[in-house]
Amino acid sequence: MSTTQETKVEQEAVKRDFYHLIINGEKVKSSTGETIKTYNPATGELVAEVAKASKEDTEKAVAAAREAFDNGKWKKYPVGRRAQVLNKIAAIMRSRFNELVELEVLDTGKTIHAAQGQITQAIEDFEFYAGAIVGHRGTVNNVPGQFHNYTEKEPVGVCAQITPWNYPMMMAAWKIAPAIAVGCSVIVKPASLTPLTTIVLGEICQEAGVPAGVVNIVPGSGAEVGDYLVGHPQVDKVAFTGSTPIGKDIMAKASQTLKRVTLELGGKSPNLVFADADIDAAVDGSLFGIFYNSGQSCEARSRLYVHEDIYDEFVGKFVEKAKKIKLGDPLDKGTHMGAIIDQGQLDTIDSYVQSAIQDGAEVLAGGKQVHPEGYENGFWYEPTVIANVNHDMKVVQEEIFGPVVVVMKFKDEKEAIRLANDTDFGLGSAIWTKDGARATRVANQIQAGIVMINCPFSAFPGTPFGGYKQSGFGRELSIESLDLYTETKSILSYYGSRPINPLGV
Ligand code: NAD
Ligand code: MN
Repeated sequence: MSTTQETKVEQEAVKRDFYHLIINGEKVKSSTGETIKTYNPATGELVAEVAKASKEDTEKAVAAAREAFDNGKWKKYPVGRRAQVLNKIAAIMRSRFNELVELEVLDTGKTIHAAQGQITQAIEDFEFYAGAIVGHRGTVNNVPGQFHNYTEKEPVGVCAQITPWNYPMMMAAWKIAPAIAVGCSVIVKPASLTPLTTIVLGEICQEAGVPAGVVNIVPGSGAEVGDYLVGHPQVDKVAFTGSTPIGKDIMAKASQTLKRVTLELGGKSPNLVFADADIDAAVDGSLFGIFYNSGQSCEARSRLYVHEDIYDEFVGKFVEKAKKIKLGDPLDKGTHMGAIIDQGQLDTIDSYVQSAIQDGAEVLAGGKQVHPEGYENGFWYEPTVIANVNHDMKVVQEEIFGPVVVVMKFKDEKEAIRLANDTDFGLGSAIWTKDGARATRVANQIQAGIVMINCPFSAFPGTPFGGYKQSGFGRELSIESLDLYTETKSILSYYGSRPINPLGV
């Protein structure tokens, strides 16, 4: 069955020179005519121009989302029909998989290997929620005999969804899929550095039969479009993924209209390697934990704690392999690590490394910008390993969002847990040990939303993703995300044979 034969909408090439806003089911230019230029971080070359939403455009998107929600049919569809549309979105994405992967690689500078994994997951997210929504329902509750109480899960309404640049299409899928599964309308504001695949996903939603106004895409400035959405009285919920400081501002501003808020913020995730670990597996998993996506991951395991008995052996192997990580053509399957998103991020990374050196730390690998052959105008940083740190250093406490890991020794389990929790964040964490009892004991004491035991991966569709402490709140990627896009309505009725007169008037 070919999806292209079924659809009436003309498919444009995924990769093109200009991308429109999507408002009320239409591809439109910006009201001001302004555009955003998006560059390939690997080469510094222009990839495309994108219509840049103004406040006026954003207002139109809110009105369209409001109309689609208040008077439209989407939320009234039988659940199975919405599920069918979600599956169709996934099918179209799959039919254009290679094009989507290539576009993501061009827009982000990440490796093809990383983009393939992330876009596969984005597809599976729609399939997951197509299934999950069918089982999402209210409850019947125990009340005194002649009463009856049940609850209904109603879509929360119009949702502003603001996403970061590090996993563009996957973050868009994490947000759009559960929201539209329950019947909400969304206005998605992708990061200006990487808006392309989110726009294409918006187009695919229209093609798959999502009614006009249910999915709107408005690339634009965070301070303008994002802020406008967060303050808008007609927006019922904000789902934000991004940095902790902006998350705090959003929460404060959203309080003015008492919007529902979920925040997926930064991290500084610990990675604990115990003396009884399978050292080679722990080395490989820990390399992936920090250097995947060039370290530009909210759950990057950027603090590596190794038991003193195996410290020298582990760090020796870890550094040796870190130096073998291959940078270069992102479209080459043999490349291990891609580029850094832009010059600003590159400068931030380097300033953290310089601050560590000034504080007396030792750089065991990397520690500087590089230019792989043929990529002289791109933004690249060497996989960097830093030792001899103390726990108060900036490089240990602050999120860097780059390929930089600090390594430290611990002497026992208690110290490992104390160090792991000595952070404002609480997103990911990893434990490497062959002792199942220890793994469980440590997992129970770590203050983080995600614990990986002998496992390099942090999530699959279905596993809750989100943080403790200043890493935010709310969980995505799981069944419980559906609750975060719904309100629970309690319906209480009386079926007694005799009228009741509680006031006794
Ligand atoms: P960012 O906070 O700078 O921007 C995120 C988004 O918010 C962008 O779309 C931006 O345009 C928008 N924005 C900026 N200012 C705004 C404002 N005042 N009001 C509303 N929206 C505004 O983050 P980034 O640099 O794009 O992404 C990196 C950060 O994201 C890191 O801190 C990382 O840890 C975090 N992140 C977290 C997760 C997670 O699931 N916890 C996942 C990916 C990234
Ligand atoms: Mn880009």
